[in-house]
Formats: sequence, C-alpha cells, structure tokens
Amino acid sequence: MNVTLAKTAGFCFGVKRAVQMVYDEIEHGTVYTYGPIIHNEEVVRDLEERGVLVIDDLDDARLKPGVSVIVRSHGISRAEYEKLERRGVRIVDATCPFVKKIHRIVEEQGRDGRSIVIIGNDHHPEVEAIKGWCVSPVTVIESIDEADKFCDSTCENLCIVSQTTFNYNKFKDLVEIISKKGYDIRCLNTICNATEERQTEAKRIAAEADAMIVIGGRHSSNTQKLFEICKNECENTYYIQTLDDLDLAQVKSMGNVGITAGASTPNNIIEEVHKACLK
Ligand code: SF4
Repeated sequence: MNVTLAKTAGFCFGVKRAVQMVYDEIEHGTVYTYGPIIHNEEVVRDLEERGVLVIDDLDDARLKPGVSVIVRSHGISRAEYEKLERRGVRIVDATCPFVKKIHRIVEEQGRDGRSIVIIGNDHHPEVEAIKGWCVSPVTVIESIDEADKFCDSTCENLCIVSQTTFNYNKFKDLVEIISKKGYDIRCLNTICNATEERQTEAKRIAAEADAMIVIGGRHSSNTQKLFEICKNECENTYYIQTLDDLDLAQVKSMGNVGITAGASTPNNIIEEVHKACLK
C-alpha cells in the first residue's frame, strides 16, 4: 500500500499562533477563551484539563477584572472587543493577522463609501466578526442563488472580500455573477494562502488516491470543505476526527491512500493516523 501524507496537513500559522498564546497565558493565572480556541475537541479537552475554561457569553459573571480572555483566531466584532475592555479583563488577542487585515479592509472601504459583500458563511464566527467591523451596509453571499439575487439599491460601489477559508473556485464564480450587475467593484481576494495551498494539494492527492482520509473536527468549516473537494475527486473519502473513527481494514485493502487534515487538527492525531496506515 502506498500512503501519501499532504505536506500542508494540520495547523496553519494562525491556529498554531493562537493555541501557543493560550498555553503561554496559563502561567499568568485564570484563563478563559471566548468560544473554543479551535474546532478540535482533543485540543479543547487538553486545555480544559489545564484549567482553561471556555465562555460563550461576555456577560458571564466569572469575567472578573484582571482575568485573561483569549480572543480566538476567528476574531471578534468591535462591539465585543469594547465590551471586554469595559469589563477590565486582560485581552489576549489571538485573532489571526490575516483575519485582522479583513477587519481593517471592510472598515476602510466602508468609510470610502463602499457597501461590503462578504463571500462566506453568514453563521461562521469569522464572518460574524467581520460584519462587526463594517461601517457601511454589508451582505453575506454563500451560494450562486444568493449571488443571482444580490441587489444593493443604496450604493453603486462595492467592496468584495472573502471568508479566509472559502473555496477559491466558488469565490471566483460568485464574484463573476456579481460583476455582471454593473457596480463599481473593488474585489479583494482575502482567502488565506494556507487554505488555498491545502485545498490544491488535497485535490491533487485525492485525484490519484483509491482512498482519501480527511482528518478534522466535526465543526471545522475548512475540514468540511477539504472533505467536499476530496470527495469530488475520490469516491472513497473518509472524514474522521481521530484514528478511532477509521475503518483501517477497509483502508488497507486499497492501493493508494492519501491523507490530509484541516487547519485545526493537531500534529499528534495526524501522525497517529499516518503511522497506523503504514503499519
Ligand atoms: S487559515 Fe489562514 S487566516 Fe485562518 S487562521 Fe489559519 S493562517 Fe489565519
């Protein structure tokens, strides 16, 4: 059996940085993360065991002045940031710099008189946070249907940005539809390179594989997209969280097996799956 492990599998720069910031902060006292630091149950559990607690509500009574609150890599809205400041907590901002850049873009472009279009999933925390930095009308578009129906009668000038983990080809298709509507458009492809590279490599490996394994948390949007891309190339694509979810006997009956993993999948889990397939 031939096993190919994607070079781009696992933690991206932003997630590695955010997780490290939490571990570094443990030494400073009580630490809370606003939402799970990443979409990976294993990592969140390990942090819990070290006393790091997750809060989902900024009105949480446990947020006493001086405790540390980690803002995760997805970022938060301006209103949430200001609320944390008012509560007097120590804010440790682990927002990925690539996401921060989008916050700045939408704010600046809005002040420049452009309505904002975010290509992405309206309910994803990253998109919710980006919306929270917009100072002009904002629309989120995820599907062809939404792009077809899009109409902003209040403004002729648009700025289009993307959720960092959005599929590049789908982004291009949606932008093309909006471009035909006669607006003056400033389009900024804010898809993160890490995502693009991971998707391209996964597609290439899956196209040659008899079985493809995609490792990542159930709620991780970038892992779900990786799965979608691989499944299109390779019918036998398996979405697993850990080695326990994998039917090894089935995988081992295949000639060529590919492995990739989402941006929030820890290295030890990838290694475990890789080794088990090689055995
Ligand atoms: S995928 Fe890119 S934008 Fe998102 S956290 Fe990772 S490095 Fe940052």
